[in-house]
This record gives sequence, structure tokens and C-alpha cells, in this order.
Amino acid sequence: MRRRPMIMLLLAGSTALAAGRAIGLAGAAGQPAGGFTVSHSEAEWRQLLSPAAYDVLRDHGTEPPGSSPLDHEQRAGLYHCAGCDLALYDAATKFDSGTGWPSFFQPLPDAIGTSSDRSLLFMLRTEVHCSRCGGHLGHVFDDGPPPTGLRYCMNGVAMTFKPAAVG
Ligand SMILES: [Zn+2]
Repeated sequence: MRRRPMIMLLLAGSTALAAGRAIGLAGAAGQPAGGFTVSHSEAEWRQLLSPAAYDVLRDHGTEPPGSSPLDHEQRAGLYHCAGCDLALYDAATKFDSGTGWPSFFQPLPDAIGTSSDRSLLFMLRTEVHCSRCGGHLGHVFDDGPPPTGLRYCMNGVAMTFKPAAVG
């Protein structure tokens, strides 16, 4: 007697879920479920980002070393996430690491998150991503300069630079 309404409810629920997926309410398959303030479907990210930025931010790619003009940027200002425009690093914390990637010794407060990256068999790396949209930015290593001793090795294509207003 009671089973039939229950089954109807379940069917209605799964239909709603399928509809949600079809119009992009649920995250695209393979993406981490929620947790970030800014989120888009994979198709939306592809529209928002250049192919090179998409490859890094959404697909954990790495730009060729020396390819980003931001590697040589020396003006005062802020480096922002290319995915959601969150300010990530102050230019005052940037240093020339000689790696060909823009490098910093300290992010702005609460700007980034980290996770363990085991994609290279021979080494465990610490992955760095934007705390607001989850976009992959690069990695952090412990061979940086004082005062932190950390080296945030960033992909320039995953960031935009906004020079400080001149006087
Ligand atoms: Zn972001």
C-alpha cells in the first residue's frame, strides 16, 4: 500500500536531478563538488577563459617556463586570479626565482588553498589554487627566500596584473 507513493517520490526526485544536470545546475562530471564561492560549468569556463588559461586553471596544466610576461613584471601592484579576479599576491612579495615562472614568497591572506598533488610519480608536490573559484594556479615549494622560506611557483597565464595607481 505504501510502496507505490514512495516509488513515485523517488522517480520524481531522480527526474528533477536529471533535469538539473541537463541545464547545468549540478557540477560537470569530474569537478570537485562545490565548496567554492565562484563556480561555473566546464562549458562556461571555456567561454570565460582563454584556451591557455583554461588549460592551467581548470585542467591543471603548466605553461611553458619563460612564456608569461608577468615573469618579468616588476611594477608595484596586485596579481589577481584570471578566473574570478580575486587578488592573490602583492607585487611586494614577488621575487625572481630564475625558474621562468612568476614566483612569490607569500600570498595575500585567505587568497589561496592547497592540496596534495601526486601526479608526478617521483615527487609529492603541494598544489596551489584560488580560494574563491578553485582554479589551479601552480605549486608551492619550501626553497623560497626569507621571511617565509616558501616559493609559490605560479603560472602567469592563470593571473592578471593590476598596477598600483600612480600618485
Ligand atoms: Zn579564482
